[in-house]
Amino acid sequence: MSDRVEPMTEKNTALELIDIHKSYGSLEVLKGVSLSACDGEVISILGSSGSGKSTLLRCINLLERPSQGQIRIAGEELNLVPGKDGDLRAANTRQLERMRSRIGFVFQNFNLWPHKSILENIIEAPTQVLKQSRDQAISRAEELLDRVGLLNKRDAYPTNLSGGQQQRVAIARALAMDPQVLLFDEPTSALDPELVNEVLAVMRSLAEEGRTMLIVTHEMRFAREVSSQVVFLHQGQIEESGTPEEVFDRPRSQRVQDFMASHA
Ligand code: ADP
Ligand code: MG
Repeated sequence: MSDRVEPMTEKNTALELIDIHKSYGSLEVLKGVSLSACDGEVISILGSSGSGKSTLLRCINLLERPSQGQIRIAGEELNLVPGKDGDLRAANTRQLERMRSRIGFVFQNFNLWPHKSILENIIEAPTQVLKQSRDQAISRAEELLDRVGLLNKRDAYPTNLSGGQQQRVAIARALAMDPQVLLFDEPTSALDPELVNEVLAVMRSLAEEGRTMLIVTHEMRFAREVSSQVVFLHQGQIEESGTPEEVFDRPRSQRVQDFMASHA
């Protein structure tokens, strides 16, 4: 019998990464990273350029194939086997597709399809992957566009939108799949400073409604406000992690102290 009584309020684990390694040739850029996010948790990932933040996020949905490690989404383990090149690959394409559809990814450069209207950008995956009817997908897309304040841009094309507007569309597009986890890779880094806040405001509202999010960002004030956990990566390893108070106010590591001082 277990001696540990699980409290009724115990949250489920939305995402679990166990001992993720990734090498490019002889360069090991992730050296065994483990982290786990409960439902509704917001984890910010900080670290200098080249520390492996993007690679870590990209390993989660196999945009990059890890060399070693385990990935679980909502308790389901992604079945990985060694590929010919030694990196891991999905053993089962159908499972990979299903797990990918549970992960929303928002990139630094928006990655909207330039030849599709805003609406078409948003309904593409729900109709193609989730096999929603066009009408159903459109009505959900309109709801989401309204939520990010861009319903009036429904029929515009990405090039007609500002960077901040494009990123809000990219967020709406990710939400249209109703993902269990949202991954953000420096979502405001490509934006003019005056457009950063409109994107952070949308992200803040997602955090407040209990979305599970992993956010790579250099927006320290934002990270401090919205995160339940902060993880600092250095050369492919977790240098320090903890609550925002721990990592921002009382970092133990000299490296994190220096980083915070230079990003204050
Ligand atoms: P960050 O997002 O923290 O800036 P990255 O994950 O992009 O860091 O990169 C981590 C390291 O991996 C860097 O040294 C980078 O040059 C290297 N790297 C990233 N992608 C590749 C690739 N496709 N091929 C070779 N090296 C890569
Ligand atoms: Mg990066």
